[in-house]
Amino acid sequence: MAVVIDGRETARKKREEAALRAAALKKRGILPRLAVILVGEDPASLSYVAGKEKALAGAGMESRDIRLPADTPEEELLSLIAGLNADPSVHGILVQLPLPGHIGEDRIITAIDPAKDVDGFHPVSAGNLVLGRPGFLPCTPRGILVLLEEAGIPTRGAHAVIVGRSAIVGRPLAILLARRDINATVTVCHTGSGELGRYTRQADILIAAAGKPGLITADMVKEGAAVIDVGVNRTPVFPPGPGNGAPPAPENAAGKSYRLRGDVDYEGVAKKAGWITPVPGGVGPMTIAMLLLNLIQAAEAAVPGGAAKA
Ligand code: NAD
Repeated sequence: MAVVIDGRETARKKREEAALRAAALKKRGILPRLAVILVGEDPASLSYVAGKEKALAGAGMESRDIRLPADTPEEELLSLIAGLNADPSVHGILVQLPLPGHIGEDRIITAIDPAKDVDGFHPVSAGNLVLGRPGFLPCTPRGILVLLEEAGIPTRGAHAVIVGRSAIVGRPLAILLARRDINATVTVCHTGSGELGRYTRQADILIAAAGKPGLITADMVKEGAAVIDVGVNRTPVFPPGPGNGAPPAPENAAGKSYRLRGDVDYEGVAKKAGWITPVPGGVGPMTIAMLLLNLIQAAEAAVPGGAAKA
């Protein structure tokens, strides 16, 4: 049976580290502050934003919560971002994605000051990552690197296979895993890869980030591999309610009619893998913890003379 990688516990430690660094900044009169912009009322986005704001508060940092109606014009969002860019009391700016269809996500992300790009989605951050220069790493890939390290999974010489080539997970993760200090050999699979198993079966480290529930089954996994499940898929449950796979109380007080499933068939794969991350409780909490550390990085960089000298 696989060792279950406890993302909640590792994330708790990283949030603690963020809280200590936030306290040191506060002693110098700096309160790390994140502007969190949510346009519309997508239920998943609402829950992600609530989770991020709760984590910020728990680590002694501030969030400026900006909720806008779904029909907000793009121009209005751009001028809001320009104001936040110019505001020295705001260290990070997060625009929760996806945005409504009439707003160009690329234009919005590019409008954020790269020094406040704590999501690591700005082209400047992406360029720095590719070039191996310091900058903000996107939170999910960064969180996966920390999970691998904390779980003691060997990466040097390992073959890492990533399923998914998104700009926020698959592609940046591929670059990070191939970095000299991590030294994995990386294969990236996608919808054009054909039969996935011929690649995934070669993986010492298999990362599933496709957004397809149960895509990775036991026959696609090498014995003893580390399997990291990034997928978060809301799958319907009928009838809604606890006891049938829907979220337990108190999360399910509202009678939620879905449950979260990863991209990995957990039951089957856990019998064969060496390590596995659960969903929920694996990569998700790490993403939020890395957002806190990115905000600290932004606030420390804003300290005159540098926070390292604090
Ligand atoms: P995406 O949804 O933008 O794209 C999916 C990628 O998977 C594409 O590159 C596509 O080529 C590939 N893909 C889809 N179906 C495939 C198949 N059958 N075979 C091979 N490749 C396939 O990607 P994303 O935004 O990285 O999201 C992926 C999943 O990860 C989603 O479930 C998302 O909710 C989840 N996610 C979780 C976190 C977290 O913190 N846990 C963060 C980001 C994304």
